[in-house]
Amino acid sequence: MLFSELSEYFDRTESTSSRLEMTTVLAELFRKSTPEDLRHIIYLSQGKLRPDFCPEELGMADRLVLRAVSFTTGVPEEEVERLAVDTGDPGRVAEVLVAKKKQMTLFSEPLTLDRVLSGLRTIESSDGRESQERKMKHLANLLHDSGPLEARYLCRIVTGRMRVGAAAMTILDALAEAFSTKEDRPEIERAYNITCDLGLVGMTMASGGMDAVRGIGVKVGNPIKVMLAERLPSIAEVVAKMGGRCAMEYKYDGIRVQAHIGPDSVKLYSRRLEDLTSNFPDVAESLRSRFKGEEAIIEGECVAVDTSTGRMQPFQNVTHRRRKHGMDSAVKEYPVRMFMFDCLFADGEDLTVRPYLERRSRLAGVFDVSDGIGMSVMRVVGSPEEGADFFREALDAGCEGIMAKSVDEGSVYRAGSRGFLWIKYKKDYHSSMTDSFDLAVVGAFYGMGKRAGVYGALLMAAYDPDSGVFETVCKLGTGFDDAFLKNLPELLEDHRSTERPRSVTSKMVPDVWFEPAVVLEVVGAEISLSPIHTAAMGSVKEGSGLGIRFPRFTGRVREDKSPEQSTSTREIEEMYLLQGPSSEE
Ligand code: AMP
Repeated sequence: MLFSELSEYFDRTESTSSRLEMTTVLAELFRKSTPEDLRHIIYLSQGKLRPDFCPEELGMADRLVLRAVSFTTGVPEEEVERLAVDTGDPGRVAEVLVAKKKQMTLFSEPLTLDRVLSGLRTIESSDGRESQERKMKHLANLLHDSGPLEARYLCRIVTGRMRVGAAAMTILDALAEAFSTKEDRPEIERAYNITCDLGLVGMTMASGGMDAVRGIGVKVGNPIKVMLAERLPSIAEVVAKMGGRCAMEYKYDGIRVQAHIGPDSVKLYSRRLEDLTSNFPDVAESLRSRFKGEEAIIEGECVAVDTSTGRMQPFQNVTHRRRKHGMDSAVKEYPVRMFMFDCLFADGEDLTVRPYLERRSRLAGVFDVSDGIGMSVMRVVGSPEEGADFFREALDAGCEGIMAKSVDEGSVYRAGSRGFLWIKYKKDYHSSMTDSFDLAVVGAFYGMGKRAGVYGALLMAAYDPDSGVFETVCKLGTGFDDAFLKNLPELLEDHRSTERPRSVTSKMVPDVWFEPAVVLEVVGAEISLSPIHTAAMGSVKEGSGLGIRFPRFTGRVREDKSPEQSTSTREIEEMYLLQGPSSEE
């Protein structure tokens, strides 16, 4: 396929705000592509060369990209940079300047998708001395044979700005539209949830249809989207919802890790698909040496512990293990223990489709526990009283609450979904009606008075996974200390956007917009109907959204959560309904 044709499709996708239209355009593109091309087109539409869980080093600095634009078009660097300041997007600058130059160029070789892919891979792998210069030249080479649209997308891809607006859910819709029917959509989504690889699902569908998609299985090395829990406001309701009997586990306050144990190596993934193996080398080592089988995928929570007393330490301690540098000393200083709670695959068998108690007993059977790894504490309870006793024990042990888990025959592992097969109950539910929220920063307001010169408040949003849209729920100005305020611009800088991001709906207009990327933990007094916030708009009352009253930052940046893992608008709606009658903002 020619890259010009692909760029036209990207442009058409970007030009519409209707998800239905976007799906139709993508479906048309998918039908035209060979299975192998389709795989790469899907990655590229997300600005990547590989699936999400593979780390990528493509990110070129804007200045370098602008130099490549100057190199190919002959426009002086200062002028290119000035244009970039005006538009805030090197892609647009490249588009405009390449368009001007094209009128004068006679010869160029057509740019194929294959050539673009191999050029981008070369850019990615250039390292060592003068690698920046070489990256710049490789990009200039591609730009030389680009038309204006191709230049726009090439520059967006290499700078990490490729946002044609196609969320994963839209791509799955488009795959269903292109190769099968809406009825098959849940099975297509399941294939994605158990592999986290949209390109693989697309390629499989295009080559072998739904039969091949049904054959996609759980595999060591492909992270599985994590299962999540619903919440209820009392232990009695939790036990009742579970039918009077359920398992309860301690809810540990640490970092969730999904371990993929292969015959020779272990890989650890966070719930946002980052590779955490080098952050927890001790855990990886214990898992491999204590595992009695060949291959497995298991989940657990890594918690900082005091090795002399065995007591669990606050969440802040384990966050030292998320650093990029200085891991050797953090490993020594902050010992951790992994509390294993699920087994999704063991020696060739997909256990995600098996009931909870069976998964649990497989887990207990395949490991010898040690100092570094152990089983989460679990008990099957048959009444609210037993549940309340277990909850108190969990708090005494230093945990934040309990996770109730269904023991029914149908208690499968629902990859990527939040449901009542797991229900969480935390100690903060005692003191306030609402749980904490994990919200994405989508905007900032400049501060006044004491906060002049820094951001004074942030516009925060929840996520609606069905539409792929971030909807605002509060303006957050409380709970920041001076050091955090000072660092905020740096934390957010890479995500600045010149206009409201396509994935955000908002009635408020902040001074600065951000692409959703940074997630903060927020507590609030209550949720109320709001005329200004767009979360769950119209679902409780026509013309009203939901807003969080008196929001306060807890001090926790949720680096372990991707923006799409923010509290969902449906959860906010449920919390609103749980808290009973409320006031209007
Ligand atoms: P939350 O982040 O509040 O939605 O709670 C869900 C998280 O609790 C999971 O993603 C895990 O990181 C964590 N967790 C702690 N203990 C357990 C457990 N025993 N079972 C499942 N998840 C647990």
